[in-house]
Amino acid sequence: MAASILAAASTRTADACGSNALLFNWSACVAFACCELATPKTLDEAAAIIKRARHRLRVVGTAHSFSRVADTDGVLLSLRGMPNAVHVLRDERTGTATARCSANITYAELCSQLHAEGVALPSMASLPHISVMGAVATATHGSGDGNGCLSTHVLEAHYLDGDGQRRSCGRSHDEFQLLLLGCLGVVVELTLEVEPRPYEVRQDIYLGLPWEVVDARFDELMGSAYSVSLFSRWDEVGGVEQLWRKQRVPAGGELEPAPQSLFGARLADGPTHPLSGVDASCCTSQGAPAGPWHERLPHFRAERDSSAQGDELQSEYFVARAHAVAALRALRALEVQSRGQLGRLLLVSEVRSVAADTLWMSPFGASASVGLHFTWRHDVAGVTAFLPVLEAALAPLDARPHWGKLFTMAPARVRALYPALPRYRELAMRVDPRGKFRGHGTFVDEVVFAP
Ligand SMILES: Cc1cc2nc3c(=O)[nH]c(=O)nc-3n(C[C@H](O)[C@H](O)[C@H](O)COP(=O)(O)OP(=O)(O)OC[C@H]3O[C@@H](n4cnc5c(N)ncnc54)[C@H](O)[C@@H]3O)c2cc1C
Repeated sequence: MAASILAAASTRTADACGSNALLFNWSACVAFACCELATPKTLDEAAAIIKRARHRLRVVGTAHSFSRVADTDGVLLSLRGMPNAVHVLRDERTGTATARCSANITYAELCSQLHAEGVALPSMASLPHISVMGAVATATHGSGDGNGCLSTHVLEAHYLDGDGQRRSCGRSHDEFQLLLLGCLGVVVELTLEVEPRPYEVRQDIYLGLPWEVVDARFDELMGSAYSVSLFSRWDEVGGVEQLWRKQRVPAGGELEPAPQSLFGARLADGPTHPLSGVDASCCTSQGAPAGPWHERLPHFRAERDSSAQGDELQSEYFVARAHAVAALRALRALEVQSRGQLGRLLLVSEVRSVAADTLWMSPFGASASVGLHFTWRHDVAGVTAFLPVLEAALAPLDARPHWGKLFTMAPARVRALYPALPRYRELAMRVDPRGKFRGHGTFVDEVVFAP
């Protein structure tokens, strides 16, 4: 399938998006409902567009979300035409460092610059091609018991409000909470908390991890490395196909060689793609030697063009860590009960751990969580018909969906899972009384703001 990519159209300065010029997301499962695409080249141009868009406006990052979270019935603003910059600031007194970066910069660009400046991020998503603000708005995450989602890296947001006025707000302000789901305004820069020194990571892949070991030793397993992922197809007999372990090299020290077997799984004897049998040349380096953090934390290489892909759909649900093993059992049972329908729609699933945070609309919230991710075949009808069955299986565990991936849960059910949602809604209505950034009948309007 040749995906239609927003990037192809976004070089135009502004464009009517009639039926002849539909704009699609990365996987072409969302056709944006916008009436205009605007790509300002300067901050002043962006401010003028915001003022001119009297009613509705939303920003799109790299359009990698599978949900309609970036969609608007008004102007779709892309910051691709604006220059990207990164400035690292060190506080020699405290030994800490921050980085102020363009909101639309991709992690691939950001992280290579951070590394060159001698600082680092603590975690990254599996793919570095996404924009920083796009990831922040959907609580995008990697894995690791000690790693919060990428939104938790942000210290301060610098944005244009509904009148095109420049504003900033820091973590301690309530308005900061509106960064999630993109309701604060047009974010142009972010100040991130960064690690003051770069570090190295080695990732080792193990094959054939028995489910009984996972069930019995889940916490030990997920805590056994800096970042741990389990790839499976929920086959009770086949077990977890792959265990990915990313270990940080201790400062001034080194890692022990990877043991040949671990948790009953065996060390892979060569580069391994999460989809068994697929060429692993797009994956970041595996095994020894360890390498720079930004070339090991993502599963996929920055230099490989992600726009050539797109032939997949994704969903992900989060449950409290205490429910992790129950969720894994429920999904294996579902594979049996659905007579293999789950497995037929699925390319692969990934289980990751994410630390708790204090963001009102983060799906992780106050408890450490486990992410249950599904990379689906590109079968929109089949997947959307199956998602209610999957969601019913996880409902007793209060599973929350990923904002940037496909789900079919009723908006009222989603709202019930977020105790702080009324505060978010009230604040958004105060900050953006005309509802410019939430739109009308859009994803965010329906899921968060509908009465
Ligand atoms: C191949 C692939 C791998 C993925 N891997 C992971 C993963 O490992 N972990 C994970 O959690 N997710 C993952 N995702 C999901 C992805 O991280 C999210 O969908 C993310 O939001 C995509 O970023 P984007 O720049 O494309 O944002 P978009 O989809 O373009 O936008 C997302 C949201 O951000 C808002 N936004 C973007 N820029 C701005 C701005 N400047 N100001 C205000 N609002 C803005 C938009 O309005 C929208 O609400 C993956 C997706 C793909 C396609």
